[in-house]
Amino acid sequence: MNTAPSLDFDVQTLRADFPILSERVHGKPLVYLDNGNTSQKPRQVIETIDHYYRAMNSNVHRGNHFLSQQATTALEAARRTTQAFINAAEDREIIFVRGTTEAINLVATSFGDGIQKGDEILISGMEHHSNIVPWQMLCARKGAELRVVPIDDNGELIMEEYENLLSDRTKIVAITHISNTLGTVNPVKRIIELAHEHGAVVIVDGAQSVPHTSVDVQALDADFYVFSGHKIFAPTGIGVLYGKAALLETMPPYHGGGAMISSVTFEKTTYNDIPFKFEAGTPHVEGIIGLGAALEYVRGVGLDAIAEYEQELLNYGTEALLGIDGLRIIGTAREKASVISFMLRNPDGDIHPHDVGTILDNDGIAIRTGHHCTQPLMKRFGVPATCRASFAFYNTKDEIDVLVHSLRKVQKMFA
Ligand SMILES: *Cc1c(COP(=O)(O)O)cnc(C)c1O
Repeated sequence: MNTAPSLDFDVQTLRADFPILSERVHGKPLVYLDNGNTSQKPRQVIETIDHYYRAMNSNVHRGNHFLSQQATTALEAARRTTQAFINAAEDREIIFVRGTTEAINLVATSFGDGIQKGDEILISGMEHHSNIVPWQMLCARKGAELRVVPIDDNGELIMEEYENLLSDRTKIVAITHISNTLGTVNPVKRIIELAHEHGAVVIVDGAQSVPHTSVDVQALDADFYVFSGHKIFAPTGIGVLYGKAALLETMPPYHGGGAMISSVTFEKTTYNDIPFKFEAGTPHVEGIIGLGAALEYVRGVGLDAIAEYEQELLNYGTEALLGIDGLRIIGTAREKASVISFMLRNPDGDIHPHDVGTILDNDGIAIRTGHHCTQPLMKRFGVPATCRASFAFYNTKDEIDVLVHSLRKVQKMFA
């Protein structure tokens, strides 16, 4: 068995931080390979939330009593942690939302307010439904056009097609940094540069990138960058919209209510400054503080070390899976994150991914099977669904061996 990673990365010590990883499922040790769907939480995050409710719980930004000040201080510290994590220029450029989906809807609705008939919005053929549907809704409201940059058989964006589609009619480019289904890493810096030459703004879907690679929104020159807490070891229900201050300031509010105003009369309401203009109502305080703890945790492990170790898992996993007769990998881009989508065959054809997933589950292995919220991508590759193993830094080569063993078993059962 291959246990020792070739670099100085103490995966067993890190695993011990994640209580759920020592659970058993159907009597077998849990092998959690569904990190692209959601990630597990380290005790540092769980304890931060526990401490919040035991010692600090209070509403924020609206009380001058002790607990409220403590909670507000902790929340704003988490905002600065998030700012530093993606190297935003200012903490007011960090808006807390429910997740990637809400962040994209916020931008599509609020920034989208300025879109006019005949304008064009560009997305790619590998987008998650949450980076397709809000733009379709915006196009329907405004009479704008949605254009789609095609991808090649390896699952890479066809950059010449992108350049051809860009024009002065292009107002928004919405693109995923890393594909949740294929693992493709898109050249977002170049994509942004080209969009800016045409005066378009770019929103990057970072749901799959922030847990795996270090992101610098200023170096990328991203106009908007969005991600979900739950995929980066933080709680569900919390996410981040980064936007350049100059853009956010010109945008109308998304939700109206408390906290987003500076004064209200029945005749006229004036809005609060950013970030509060976009944070109506009582925020998800435990989620925000938990996100701060998760980002501190990831920073402590180190994204460069994580990226290097996960590439090793990806290479090992790719080779091991291709060792199975008749298994094919969907998504073979040159630059990939630690996500492997695949189809398993027997002599009669593809075994349905749902059957594969069910049998793996019996062995304690969690993978995702289905369309991964990317139905147009499934159509592009001519499959109804795929099996997807997605790794986090706490996964091991031993776990990949368990997966391969179980997949061979599936093949025998369906032979
Ligand atoms: C998960 C995911 C989303 C949606 O995130 P939510 O947390 O469900 O809002 C969007 N895009 C990508 C690439 C994803 O992986």
